[in-house]
Amino acid sequence: MAAFRNMELGPALFSERRIARAIEDIAAKVGEHHDLSELVLVGAMDGAVCFLADLMRAFGEHMRVTTVRMRSYEGTGAAGLEVLWMPCREWIDGRDVLIVEDIVDTGATCALLSERLAALGARSVRICALLDKPSRRKHDVKVDYFGFRVPDVFVVGYGLDYDGAFRNLPAVYALGTEQGKSDSERPR
Ligand code: 5GP
Repeated sequence: MAAFRNMELGPALFSERRIARAIEDIAAKVGEHHDLSELVLVGAMDGAVCFLADLMRAFGEHMRVTTVRMRSYEGTGAAGLEVLWMPCREWIDGRDVLIVEDIVDTGATCALLSERLAALGARSVRICALLDKPSRRKHDVKVDYFGFRVPDVFVVGYGLDYDGAFRNLPAVYALGTEQGKSDSERPR
């Protein structure tokens, strides 16, 4: 699984062990700040599939867990986002919501999700991401909990894919072209 089309995996940026430790830390912080019985984790599919599964099991207490599904599309020049699936109002109304994202890049996904969850009556909406790529931010979103900051490289593994490939890798890797150019030819 080291290569797909002309893209090659670079070295692992974050190993399984480092990811597991980061998740324990995040769960501890979230537990300090929230009454878990009032908290709903909302995992942004498909990228957050591994993070959501591990994070929810890092809490020792009962809590609600659900998912949302978004799709990005290219319109006439501008990329946009469409919500394909949202939890119903009964799950969100009056509760504290924690968006669980694989990576916050421009912040568009979290901005739209926060707005939609607030419209469903969430008492509070916070953001938790395994990875944060602040250099690419275009939307004013606050990442309340994150595992690691990443530079402007395209990463795969642990839920993150490149055109469907690499999602099932257990660690996070930088992806580059066969010549090792990870930044100049960013797959999008
Ligand atoms: P945003 O809306 O913050 O720009 O981006 C959020 C989504 O873009 C992420 O959930 C993820 O699906 C995708 N994304 C952003 N950066 C990367 C990256 O480096 N690798 C992969 N595989 N997906 C990314």
